[in-house]
Amino acid sequence: MSKKTIIIGSGIGAIALSIRLKTKGFQVEVFESNDYVGGKLSEITNRNYRFDAGPSLFTMPHYVDELFELANENPRAHFDYQELENICNYFWEDGTRLSAYKNIDKFESELETKLKIPKGQLKNILEDSQLKYELTGKIFLEKSIHQLKTWWSKDVLKALLRFHKLDIFKSMHQVNEAHFDNKKMVQFFNRFATYNGSNPYKASGILNIIPHFEHHFGAFFPKGGMINITKSLYLLAKRLGVQFHLNAKVDEILVENNKAIGVSVNGKTNLSDIVISNMDIYPTYQRLLKKQKTPSSVIKNERSSSALIFYWGIKKSFPQLDLHNILFSNNYKKEFDEMANGRIDDDPTIYIHISSKYHKDDAPEACENWFVMINVPHNNGQDWDTMIQLAKKNIINKINRNLNTSIEPLIETENILDPRSIELRTSSFGGSLYGTASNDMMAAFNRHANFSKKIKNLYFCGGSVHPGGGIPLCLLSAKITAELISGLK
Ligand SMILES: Cc1cc2nc3c(=O)[nH]c(=O)nc-3n(C[C@H](O)[C@H](O)[C@H](O)COP(=O)(O)OP(=O)(O)OC[C@H]3O[C@@H](n4cnc5c(N)ncnc54)[C@H](O)[C@@H]3O)c2cc1C
Repeated sequence: MSKKTIIIGSGIGAIALSIRLKTKGFQVEVFESNDYVGGKLSEITNRNYRFDAGPSLFTMPHYVDELFELANENPRAHFDYQELENICNYFWEDGTRLSAYKNIDKFESELETKLKIPKGQLKNILEDSQLKYELTGKIFLEKSIHQLKTWWSKDVLKALLRFHKLDIFKSMHQVNEAHFDNKKMVQFFNRFATYNGSNPYKASGILNIIPHFEHHFGAFFPKGGMINITKSLYLLAKRLGVQFHLNAKVDEILVENNKAIGVSVNGKTNLSDIVISNMDIYPTYQRLLKKQKTPSSVIKNERSSSALIFYWGIKKSFPQLDLHNILFSNNYKKEFDEMANGRIDDDPTIYIHISSKYHKDDAPEACENWFVMINVPHNNGQDWDTMIQLAKKNIINKINRNLNTSIEPLIETENILDPRSIELRTSSFGGSLYGTASNDMMAAFNRHANFSKKIKNLYFCGGSVHPGGGIPLCLLSAKITAELISGLK
């Protein structure tokens, strides 16, 4: 008889794990507290508008394809995407406009024309990013770093020999400043720290690996929107026979003789051989493992940033905007300092994502669905209602200045998510988007392992544990966890 596994939560990491375990011959049941699957990777609708609720930037699509291939299915028959030629439009208040093209020669020409940046500088920093990826990607992203065998390998030796190239002891900002005199380019590359909710003035230069994902492997748009990542993988899992229980909140992980033996859902016991939590690691310990001591690193680790998002139905079309658009703040350092102090800067960098540019059904004709996001600190009991009102005023003024418009009368529908509601929808502690931040050098080591060192048969998968947050890393988290579990079959 095959072993039974229970997964708590149905975030993208959990769905991917359920597929992997099922293809390895395990029985898999998923318990999800919401009445929908996908966690942060879900959607919001309002009248004739549809919005992807969380992630909007899709990189490394082959990690999704891999799951269909594991199940001997053709990914293209169920899930498709197109590569973006123009990855993102950037706006500065002095009138500078920049398009970040995937094609490096085209992007270099754009930088030469718009910012007078000599050819070669972009290639240089991207090669640096590639080297960091090649030296550390296999060790830190594709394996459990909490197992000794990971450290006895040729890959580790190779990385150690070129350790100085990793820029571990510098901040991302310092590394970027060493590459460019141009402040706008430093800001451009600093922004990659926000891809895992970190602060470029604190995060280690090793995080300069992130641009490699976007500018080497490319950025993509899933046909039908980001929600199709969740939907197509959920359907695949169901075809394979994974059982999903919705409206099923797990209230306890049952432990006997230091061994996980199942979960309690609404007071009812469900036994299993293996339990995996896809719930954020902090509440997993605090709420589901009350009798166990929460590891001190889980308590102490700094949370990643959260977000304030306005989902606006806009009754006009803006040809100067594309799928991804950034309106940069004037003082980037101040913006992160304010966040570190739990506040929102009065001139925040604004990210506008408009999926209706690619998927026309997301908005009525001649209208657009705007996902307007700023990075904000995680919830620490701040007066969010007052902060949101003020931020909305500042955001509207900044959009009006940059796009030479008056946006307020064009907003015909509005939904809002803030750190409190993100936490309510996903149980993510403080509403952080990416689990823990990478603001110190040891962040990768302090992030929780994919298994419990104290409780047998208990595992963890998703954005708050190794290797970290964001869709690609959550999918890798599923891969690492599945490999750890497959030995138990
Ligand atoms: C606004 C926003 C923007 C983002 N932008 C990007 C982006 O552009 N690109 C990118 O790659 N990533 C982005 N991310 C991050 C990405 O969404 C996450 O890293 C990823 O989706 C997290 O997946 P996960 O597997 O950790 O599970 P989560 O999505 O965190 O889901 C956890 C699930 O567990 C369920 N759960 C919790 N407790 C229980 C319980 N007790 N019982 C049962 N179920 C429970 C929750 O309801 C939830 O469904 C963004 C996130 C947000 C919120």
